Amino acid sequence: MDADVVIVGAGPVGLFLAAELLLGGLQPLVVEQLAQPATERKARGIGVLATEALTRRGLGPQLAAAHEEGIRDFARDHGSTLGHFANIHKLLPDEDRPRTHIWQPELERLLAGHAVGVPMRRAHRVTAIESDVDGVTAIVETPQGERRITAAYLVGCDGGRGKVRSLAGFGFPGTPPLLRTLAGQVRFEGAVPPAGRYAAGSFMHGGSMAGVTEFARDGESDGPVTPAELAAAIRRVTGEDVTVTEVRDSRRFADQARQADDYRRGRILLAGDAAHVHSPSGGQGLNLGLLDAANLGWKLAAVVRGEMPETLLDSYFRERGPAGAAVLRNTRAQSALLAPGPHVDALREIVAELMDLPEANRYFSDLLSGVKERYEFPYPAEEPVGLHSPDRSLVDDEGRVTLLSDHTRTGRGVLVLDPESRDLAALATKRIEVVPATNTESFLLRPDGVIAWAGGEAELKVALDTWFA
Ligand SMILES: Cc1cc2nc3c(=O)[nH]c(=O)nc-3n(C[C@H](O)[C@H](O)[C@H](O)COP(=O)(O)OP(=O)(O)OC[C@H]3O[C@@H](n4cnc5c(N)ncnc54)[C@H](O)[C@@H]3O)c2cc1C
Repeated sequence: MDADVVIVGAGPVGLFLAAELLLGGLQPLVVEQLAQPATERKARGIGVLATEALTRRGLGPQLAAAHEEGIRDFARDHGSTLGHFANIHKLLPDEDRPRTHIWQPELERLLAGHAVGVPMRRAHRVTAIESDVDGVTAIVETPQGERRITAAYLVGCDGGRGKVRSLAGFGFPGTPPLLRTLAGQVRFEGAVPPAGRYAAGSFMHGGSMAGVTEFARDGESDGPVTPAELAAAIRRVTGEDVTVTEVRDSRRFADQARQADDYRRGRILLAGDAAHVHSPSGGQGLNLGLLDAANLGWKLAAVVRGEMPETLLDSYFRERGPAGAAVLRNTRAQSALLAPGPHVDALREIVAELMDLPEANRYFSDLLSGVKERYEFPYPAEEPVGLHSPDRSLVDDEGRVTLLSDHTRTGRGVLVLDPESRDLAALATKRIEVVPATNTESFLLRPDGVIAWAGGEAELKVALDTWFA
C-alpha cells in the first residue's frame, strides 16, 4: 500500500486529520487538486471547541497571536467585537472558553506546519475510487498522467463540492438555498446607501467589507463577484445606484443545508464540509469540521494499528452526526431571521431583546459553540461524561501546576487521578498518560478531549475497554 490512509483535500480539515493520524503512528498521504495553497479568505475564525482541539496539540500560542489581528479585523468589518446570531451582534464572549479570530489561509498555513512529515501530493485530483474488503484505491489525475494510490482507508475532506461523497454513494439530503450573499472588499466611488435591512434584502457595509443578501435565484453565475454584479444587487436591495470600482477577495455563498446520511461506507469516510454544508452564519463550519477530524483521527489510528476493532469507527457518525445536524438546525434558523420582510423584522426585534437576558445570551452562545452537546456513549454515564473538557490547571502532589493541555500533545488519552484513586493507575494502557492531581476529581480524557469517565473503578474498566481496549 502507498499509505495507511489517503486523505483527499488539503483544506483545514484534511490537514488537521493528517496531523492526528501521524500522531497516532500512521502513515497518511494527502492528495490535493490545487497546485498551491488556497488564498481565499473564507472563514475568519474558529469556535471554542476547535480552539481547544488545536490547543491540545500545542498550537495555543500561534492561535493567540493570530487572534490579536483577527479580532481587530472583525471589529473593523462588523463594528463590534461581540459574536452574532443572524447578524444580531450581542453575544458576549466566554472568557474561560474563548474562540479564535484567524483568517482561513493563515489557519491553513499553521495546520500545514503542524502536519509536517505527512507527504502531500499537490496538483493531484481524485477522479474515481475503487474499494473492496482489503483496501481502497484512489484514481488520481496528475500533471504526469493518471496514478493509482492504494491505502487501507480513504477520507474525503474534499469540501462541500467534493466528489468523494458521490463517488462512494453517500446520500446528501437537506434543503436548497433560501438566501444568497455576494460580498468582498469593495471600493466605491461616490455616495453609498446606509447599511441595514431593506424590503428586498440586506446591505452590509463596514470597514472595506460590503455585501448584499437576497433571496436565492436559479441560474446564478459561479465565478468571482464582478463590480457590475455587486452594484446591480445593491440597486435591487436598496433602490440606490452605486458605483463599485473594485471587488477584491470576493465571496459568493448560499445557505443550502445538507448532511451526508452516514460518514462511513466501509473503508471510505467523510469529514468536514464534505460531510455537511450550511450557511456560514455564526462561523461554525470549521468548528464542526476540525472536531470531525479530532473525533475520527485517534479512532482510525487505533483501528489501523490493529489495537481496536473496526466497530470503533461506528462511534464516529454516532457522535458527529448529531453535532452536524445541530449546526444545520441553527443555521436554518439564522437564515429565517436573515430573510427580508416586516414579519422577520418583528421577530428579529424580539430575538434581540431576548439576547439582553443573560441566560438567553448564554443559550445562543452555547448553541453556536456546541460546548453543551454531549456525545451518546454505549455505556450509562452522567455529565460531564460525553462533554468536551475545557483546558484547566492541574496541581500535582508537590504543588506544581500544569495545564491539562500540557499532557495532551502526544495524542494519548489522559487519566487524571485524585489522591484517593491513585491505585486505578494500574488499569491504564500504554496509550494513556496518568496524571496525579490534587485539585480535581478523577476523570479520563479521550485523545479528542472528550471526558470518557468520572466515577468508580468498574465504570473506568468499561470506559477503557470501550475506547482503548
Ligand atoms: C464566506 C464564508 C465565510 C465563512 N466563515 C467561516 C467562519 O468564520 N468560521 C468557520 O468556522 N467557517 C466559516 N466558513 C466555512 C469554512 O470556510 C468551511 O467550513 C471550511 O473551509 C471547510 O474546510 P474543509 O477542509 O472541510 O473543506 P475545504 O476548505 O473546502 O477544503 C477542501 C479541499 O479539497 C480539495 N479538493 C476538492 N476536490 C478534490 C479532489 N477531487 N481531489 C483532490 N482535492 C480535492 C479542494 O481543492 C480543497 O483544498 C465560511 C465559509 C464561507 C464561504
